Amino acid sequence: MKIVETKRVITLDELAKLDEDKKDKESADKKAERKTLHQSLLGMEGGLAKPKLSKKPKKEKSQSLGSFSGIQGNLVKPETEQVKNDRLKKANRFYLPVLNINDVQQHESQPLENRLHFTDKVAYNTCVGNCCGVPGLKAGCCYLDPDDIEHVLGPLDEEWIAGFVKHLRKQGLGASRHDVVVDFEEGKLIGDKWFSGTPKNAVFQSPDSYPILRMQLVGPRFACKFLNFETGKCTIYAHRPDMCRDYLCQYVKANFLVRTKQHPNTYSKIR
Ligand code: SF4
Ligand code: SF4
Repeated sequence: MKIVETKRVITLDELAKLDEDKKDKESADKKAERKTLHQSLLGMEGGLAKPKLSKKPKKEKSQSLGSFSGIQGNLVKPETEQVKNDRLKKANRFYLPVLNINDVQQHESQPLENRLHFTDKVAYNTCVGNCCGVPGLKAGCCYLDPDDIEHVLGPLDEEWIAGFVKHLRKQGLGASRHDVVVDFEEGKLIGDKWFSGTPKNAVFQSPDSYPILRMQLVGPRFACKFLNFETGKCTIYAHRPDMCRDYLCQYVKANFLVRTKQHPNTYSKIR
């Protein structure tokens, strides 16, 4: 079969229209090209690219600062002892300084005119916020440290133990002596496990030290089981043993006028 080609003459109007169509197409192509470029710059398929744009330059900036300070090693300030100590204190939220609360030599006796009466309010402010004069420190004597602080030990009064266990039972808490105190056999093992090689192990190895208040581990230290170590408050304050009630650390003795068991109504300088 023979194919016959036909030709047709295009009119001027048709030519003008064709020209216009061509221009429209070019314009649409350019728009599409701009859009594609824009999207690839933003790194996204859609038009929600703002967050990426704002994040990217920041990251690049800090990276370049980092590499700059890395190269210029001698421009980085060396860490001072003070800065290092502060950093370590923050890293260890259970930080407690060595207080030497029972060492007379460590707490200089203050003149009479410098002393406040150790009232309940002053005692509260001191013991749960400025223990031994350390701002922010709470309840140092309710802790036990291998090198310091022994108030949390004992021996405890048997009458108090029996009465306290009874009190807990009345509260509906099925408590036993074991929940409240540690006796010699168990204490010996605790001493060997946790205090071996420290001066405090001698206390754990002596039957005369018992019974002692049960303890809880608080970070690298021990605290009385009944201490709320977040607030620094005794959770059994109204029922605490006489050992705690009558206790005055050397800091308190050296800095305040205090009441004693023998003179409960008089504030006096006892050291
Ligand atoms: S009695 Fe002394 S060691 Fe105990 S909490 Fe008060 S200031 Fe601190
Ligand atoms: S019973 Fe209370 S005051 Fe006594 S050591 Fe425990 S937390 Fe401290």
